[in-house]
Amino acid sequence: MKFMCLCGKILTDNTDALPYKARMVADEDWDQFMVSCTKPPGCDIRLLTTIYQCSHCGCLRIVKPAGNVVFFKPEDEHVSRTLLRSVKSEAG
Ligand SMILES: [Zn+2]
Repeated sequence: MKFMCLCGKILTDNTDALPYKARMVADEDWDQFMVSCTKPPGCDIRLLTTIYQCSHCGCLRIVKPAGNVVFFKPEDEHVSRTLLRSVKSEAG
């Protein structure tokens, strides 16, 4: 899958472990999500919101489970472009 950021950069989602992608569960859905992960067929991905961050402008592209897309622009140009990196990347 490819999509264009508001700045014109093309982002792709065609592999695993993307450093600019994360998933979010609404707090209202958290308990249901955690319970779903303990039994087959596994974690209920229908509860996941997907987020991408543009490495060029830092804009967040938020994709709700129903498919609605919203963009959020950073408050200024100094905002990290790696907000969605693994917590392991913060260890060093
Ligand atoms: Zn961008």
